[in-house]
Amino acid sequence: MPRVSREPVPARTEHLRDVHRLVVKVGTRGVADVDGSPNEPNIQAWAQEIAGLIAEGREVLLVTSGAVYMGFRALGLDKPVDALRLRQAGAAVGQPLLMRYWRRAFQQRGLVVAQILLTQDDVADRRRAIHLRNTIFALLEAGAIPIFNENDSVSVDGVTFMDNDRLAARLAGLIGADFLILLTDQNGLFTRDPDRHQDARLVSLVRQEELDAAQFVEDRARAESRGGMKAKVRAAEIAVSCGIPCALAHGGEPQVIQRLLHGEDLGTFFVPRERVSSRKSWILSGQEPSGEIFVDEGACRALRQRDGSSLLPVGITDARGEFASGDLVILRGPDGAEIARGLVNYAAHEVRVIKGSQTRDIARLLGRSAHETVVHRDNMVVTAPRNGSS
Ligand code: GLU
Repeated sequence: MPRVSREPVPARTEHLRDVHRLVVKVGTRGVADVDGSPNEPNIQAWAQEIAGLIAEGREVLLVTSGAVYMGFRALGLDKPVDALRLRQAGAAVGQPLLMRYWRRAFQQRGLVVAQILLTQDDVADRRRAIHLRNTIFALLEAGAIPIFNENDSVSVDGVTFMDNDRLAARLAGLIGADFLILLTDQNGLFTRDPDRHQDARLVSLVRQEELDAAQFVEDRARAESRGGMKAKVRAAEIAVSCGIPCALAHGGEPQVIQRLLHGEDLGTFFVPRERVSSRKSWILSGQEPSGEIFVDEGACRALRQRDGSSLLPVGITDARGEFASGDLVILRGPDGAEIARGLVNYAAHEVRVIKGSQTRDIARLLGRSAHETVVHRDNMVVTAPRNGSS
């Protein structure tokens, strides 16, 4: 039997004082049974909880997996779901099935659902992201429950979110959610794979500085879905970088959403950084970083010390990865530690040409007039603590 603890944990509740808008993500293994039929008890229980939150005046966005697996089973296919063509076909069949069950569950509670299917470029592109935000806010104002999934039937390499955990985290960043809840079939994040190691311990609280270490959690590939534990930690990292607390818990726990909201010691809680503006939140959550720029000690200090330093070519020592102008890059100090993230004005090969140069020489070196900065401060978020040293 699941342990129901009633005591809220202050390290959690201090970040959950004013949760108005939540993103809840449920995984394939909670939504669908092994034979591909819906897990009605879970769907009903979550719909009941979400309806309760809406009745309290909160806004809930639901991200649901399960389309690919349900469709795959409905088609009687018996091949690994990793084959792209089959995933796409499966999703086309499974998505309407999946929505039928959610729609019915919410309709029984007098609620209207809306379906939004996304690919990564819908949130990475600023203009499209703003339109998407407006649509979501219109739905929330109208009292509908927006239900999201990746648009798997058209999603291919390069535009995929990779998994719905990241979709949920990017969505949370985009709409300025107050809490991201990832419901899974595990009790939370463990120090080791709990199915294989008896000494595995559940991690109740993950602070930001511990996130890097948490990336090393063991993972297991599963046939039905994409997001393993690493994907969940990655999603949590995106959320907390935007200042959004994130919890990971077993979706089968009774009243799991309410209990997480009350700050109970349930599953794993990821402590958020300070809240960032909506634009900065979009910079951090809109896309996966495409490369890295290394800067010298002086640039490193300028970026960290003062609010408002742009990155100029003179401070750059190296560029790694193949990024294009407009992509998200990580700025790193001489020791490799991350200092900031930002949208870059130049492609990687151009940064390699202008690195170490004076701004006035950019046009001559590139043979065209161009931006004065490599990353403008308005397009940058300092992610390292702001103190003098690196
Ligand atoms: N979008 C996929 C589906 O609906 C799930 C992706 C994931 O497992 O994260 O089946």
